Amino acid sequence: MKAIRRFTVRTVLPAALRDLDELALNLRWSWHAPTRELFASIDPERWDAVNGDPVALLGSLGPERLTVLAADAAFVARVEAAAQDLGRYLTEPRWYQSAAAGGSELPRTIAYFSPEFGITSVLPQYSGGLGILAGDHLKSASDLGVPIVGVGLLYGAGYFKQALTRDGWQVETYPVLDPDGLPLTLVREEDGSPALVTVDLPGGRVLHAHLWMAAVGRVPLLLLDSNVPENDDAARKVTDRLYGGGGEHRLQQELLLGVGGVRALRVWSRLTGAAEPEVYHTNEGHAGFLGVERIRELVAAKGLEFDEALEAVRAATVFTTHTPVPAGIDRFEADLVAQYFSGSNATAGVPVEKVLALGAEDYAGGDPTLFNMAVMGLRLGGRANGVSLLHGEVSRGMFNALWPGFDESEVPISSVTNGVHALTWVDPRFQALADGRFTSTEAADGTGWLRPDAITDDELWSIRRTMRGQLVTEARSRIRASWRERGASPAELGWVEEALSPEVLTIGFARRVPTYKRLTLMLSDPERLRALLTDPDKPVQLIIAGKSHPADEQGKRLIQQLVRFADGADVRHRIAFLPNYDIGMAQTLYPGCDVWLNNPLRPLEASGTSGMKSSLNGGLNLSILDGWWDEWFDGKNGWAIPTADGVTDADRRDDLEAAALYDLIEHQVAARFYDRDERGLPVTWLEMIRHTLSTLGPKVQATRMVADYVQHLYAPAAVAGRALDGGDLAGARKLAAWKSAVRAAWPQVRVDHVESGVGEVAQVGDPLHVRAHVSLGDLSPSDVEVQVVHGTVTESDDLSNLRTLALVHDEAYEAGRHAFSGDVTLDASGPFGYTVRIVPKHSALASIAEMGLVVNAS
Ligand SMILES: *Cc1c(COP(=O)(O)O)cnc(C)c1O
Repeated sequence: MKAIRRFTVRTVLPAALRDLDELALNLRWSWHAPTRELFASIDPERWDAVNGDPVALLGSLGPERLTVLAADAAFVARVEAAAQDLGRYLTEPRWYQSAAAGGSELPRTIAYFSPEFGITSVLPQYSGGLGILAGDHLKSASDLGVPIVGVGLLYGAGYFKQALTRDGWQVETYPVLDPDGLPLTLVREEDGSPALVTVDLPGGRVLHAHLWMAAVGRVPLLLLDSNVPENDDAARKVTDRLYGGGGEHRLQQELLLGVGGVRALRVWSRLTGAAEPEVYHTNEGHAGFLGVERIRELVAAKGLEFDEALEAVRAATVFTTHTPVPAGIDRFEADLVAQYFSGSNATAGVPVEKVLALGAEDYAGGDPTLFNMAVMGLRLGGRANGVSLLHGEVSRGMFNALWPGFDESEVPISSVTNGVHALTWVDPRFQALADGRFTSTEAADGTGWLRPDAITDDELWSIRRTMRGQLVTEARSRIRASWRERGASPAELGWVEEALSPEVLTIGFARRVPTYKRLTLMLSDPERLRALLTDPDKPVQLIIAGKSHPADEQGKRLIQQLVRFADGADVRHRIAFLPNYDIGMAQTLYPGCDVWLNNPLRPLEASGTSGMKSSLNGGLNLSILDGWWDEWFDGKNGWAIPTADGVTDADRRDDLEAAALYDLIEHQVAARFYDRDERGLPVTWLEMIRHTLSTLGPKVQATRMVADYVQHLYAPAAVAGRALDGGDLAGARKLAAWKSAVRAAWPQVRVDHVESGVGEVAQVGDPLHVRAHVSLGDLSPSDVEVQVVHGTVTESDDLSNLRTLALVHDEAYEAGRHAFSGDVTLDASGPFGYTVRIVPKHSALASIAEMGLVVNAS
């Protein structure tokens, strides 16, 4: 293939229509229906033909049409009004600017790094949940006025497009994107030349990247693009595909994202005067090298030692882990990583051993030859979190080995449950119906979401039917297109007219196809499934979609198995696999499905978000109690598929869970859906929808999620970062010196002996007096906390339900010996146990486990 250099020439708009440029380039249109309607009104057919892409629409209008539009006073006035509305949205004070958000402790700017961003189908720079979440994070930050700047890569081909062969095998294509045709602006130097970021590669090579800016409402998203003339051919390909290639290609992508990303932020601030970020948030471990780059900066510019710079960086970094599946974590050969930080790439003050130590699996069960990006994320992030309560718990267990000596419950990983951006995912008609009744979708705390009496049964059922009907129409056209691609002739496709029904209970299942999500669980008993689909009275229809990772043959086999079943002439009117799941498809799929099915292998789904999008449209969830559903299922907002936790035979576990799923669908879901009153309305079903909207509605929104990040992670990180910075970084130097002294002295620290006293018969409410005699060597009593750890004694002689009490320093003997004492209140009956331990104490430690040092009484 010839390397054809292509570019898109953008239209120059007449002066009266200039504002259309900003309206098209600012992606707020993707969640602002009135702006989309304005564009659609220019030429509805063309708007559909360009799949609702404003930049493409404007590019396709000839000069004549533009002249006519410019002379249309009413249209020009609408453009002006829309531009003013956008202007207000971009500048007015919002939640973050109000006292409610927390005031002066808030960071001036937060940098948010992610390997993918799913904002609109027009900008296909995502593969699945991680990217969509990042997109929703930026949009909600914009709605709340949170000053975030996003950092990512611009992939030449984005993620692949999925099609099927005749016999149901997934095939991938990678349509090349042209940045000039996308809603992006090239970042330029004052002289007009493209701004350039560089990262050194081994062997004296240099990786160059241009910067593109996507305006996500108030949030600028900077995307690094290596496909530039300054690069050699190999370097041009670094950003060719999302998660393309393996090993070194991926490492280079992550170096560009992390190291190049920080440099991009510096360029952005220099050119726009934007405040430098005070907090850095890395969405999954891929961007972890951003911490190494910030250490390098501090070493070079402020003369800090590596360990001092590390403290300053850690304090202001937030790391979010997204996977409970070890295979989902990026790991590189440590030797490969070493090449990028040594030899001709060595940097004074940033020794390669120290970089390697950040990602080293130097703990029980680790592989010393590998460099682990999640481990680096945890070591560089002063604050870390999982993405649902359950996932936080699973993560604490998964990474416990990094904090030996501490209980799983003390592993410093918290959780913020994911959320979704309502205005992106709620059907615009449903939204319109809800406006003023489902009041604000922007309130950070979600209050006033839906008054239960705000909508009549008739209205609610009628909009649900409309949305189902719209999905059926779209699904038919996708089925037809897919069969045409698979080689069927129009004459064979008459049945598609009748495929699916706008009146039948519709169950949706769409997500990526890794094994743990169990796409084919529903096929465990094909006859049982067939019976449910073709039931004469209470039929069910299934709409399924999902892409398998191109290298995952097993995932492709699952898709094929499902497609072959769905191809069957006896069921194809009730079950369909729609190829090429993407944001565009998702936006009709969620509103159109009555029930959203999710059957992962618990607890491998970190959060899951598609079910949240369904619930905001009045869909009911039918799901394994995993991720967010484990937290918020309440018995009335959907159904929990019982899990066969503990059954070790995987096939048997699948069979048990599938049988439970069939039973639920038949006896509860379908039974209730088809249970109608004299008006033909499913009243109990509608009651469940109301309950879902009013209780889940506020919780599942990404505004709630972003507000949680601001208050529980960004604000504390900003405070910690400022304390260590202070202009001269004295705090960071002192903390590093203190940690080093504590480490040196720690071997001398011990609990010498413990005295305690309680009455003969201990009763609830009694005090337990504890006095501990300890040796602290060269440390002073204020360097440590001597704690009583108490709880319930379990059958295996461990403590559960741990609580701690800090003892107070009583007296110092000579030679580093001290006594500490205090009273534990026995606040519960039953087997009580306690022990005494010593941990380091410093106001700058984010958790007692931070240093991984603990001495227990023997
Ligand atoms: C929401 C969404 C996802 C993620 O869904 P999960 O339930 O988290 O798997 C993936 N792809 C698209 C297109 C989505 O809209």
